[in-house]
Amino acid sequence: MKKYVGFVGWRGTVGTVLIQRMLKEKDFKNINPIFFSTSQIGKKNLFIQDIYPYYIKDAYNILDLKKMDIIITCQGTEYTEKVYFELRSQNWKGYWIDAASSLRMNKDSILVLDPVNNVLIEESIKKGVKTFVGSNCTVSLMLLALGGLFSKNLIEWITVHTYQAASGSGAKSMLELLQQTGIVFNNISSLIVNSHVLEIEKKVNSTIQSANFPIENFKAPLAYSLIPWIDKKMKNGQSKEEWKVQSETNKILSRTDNPIRLDATCVRISSLRCHSQSFTIKLKKDISISEIEDILSSHNPWVKVIPNTIKDTLRYLNPIAVTGTLNIPIGRLRKLTIGSKYLSAFTVGDQLLWGAAEPIRRMLHFLIK
Ligand code: NAP
Repeated sequence: MKKYVGFVGWRGTVGTVLIQRMLKEKDFKNINPIFFSTSQIGKKNLFIQDIYPYYIKDAYNILDLKKMDIIITCQGTEYTEKVYFELRSQNWKGYWIDAASSLRMNKDSILVLDPVNNVLIEESIKKGVKTFVGSNCTVSLMLLALGGLFSKNLIEWITVHTYQAASGSGAKSMLELLQQTGIVFNNISSLIVNSHVLEIEKKVNSTIQSANFPIENFKAPLAYSLIPWIDKKMKNGQSKEEWKVQSETNKILSRTDNPIRLDATCVRISSLRCHSQSFTIKLKKDISISEIEDILSSHNPWVKVIPNTIKDTLRYLNPIAVTGTLNIPIGRLRKLTIGSKYLSAFTVGDQLLWGAAEPIRRMLHFLIK
């Protein structure tokens, strides 16, 4: 019998991409989907009506949730914390698949990124693990880009500088960035033809700094700017987004007892979709760039090594080229002038696909095959 799979958070940024991918791959024919929402209860929805022509259920109704064999949630941390423990305390034995961060470091949960840790996923299912969580988006994208170097144990340490898109912060944040750019353009559009560019720049700046400029979600202007802080502050001065890089990477690789050292500076930028990352890598041994390229490109079918040329970099290594694809381009590969074991690399990945929805979609396959 087909399993009952409850979907929560399917209206959001990650959830919408998940449903689109599942429709494309015809995944719904293998399950009985039931749709829940925190705000659309009792409504029907055009986006899902072909697969679910019924009324949307209440995502806080524990009795209805308990009937599910599997729950997939892309709703967020607050929802997970309100519902997950209540369900488990009522002896619900179903599988919980989550995009939110709150259960990631829980000892009973497994972080899922099957091109990297499919063996761990299979073994965990056999052992009776019931909670599977997608990892942080930049962590998943880094592990797919550098998977070859990780799997051959060639990495001594990495520092990462991220350039993270507005959509990493959800639907409302994307809309806020679009609103910010719209307000700025409306204020300066009449000046573009006849004014000096620095006069226009001054007007842009005063518009952005005005008291009524919309910053409710990002807490600071993002349009024409950047925000070098993502998530809460940790005691050691890292942001939580930076802290996740070492902790989640090592959990995925089953290396928490013998961790690879990683640190990061995570920055929100005004691209709309796709996260970019710049790596400085200390290798364990001096290997040539062509050997590194072979190791990287043979790790998984999605990683694409981009030649270190201006033409290829401009064409393939940017958010616009990657948006909506599962490709993980990695380029700007070169040894740093400081030594032959120091490697520089730059990657871009769609954080809504491989960074969130795709590992979760593929996790469902492990449970229904
Ligand atoms: P989101 O876009 O903010 O959506 C979350 C929920 O917000 C929706 O399910 C919907 O719930 C509600 N919502 C309110 N206004 C909405 C609107 N205008 N459009 C769509 N939905 C709206 O959040 P998200 O970015 O998908 O993130 C979900 C979880 O995944 C979070 O825990 C996040 O940390 C994690 N995650 C996100 C990314 C990413 O790149 N965004 C990557 C990895 C992990 P109702 O239907 O109940 O109203």
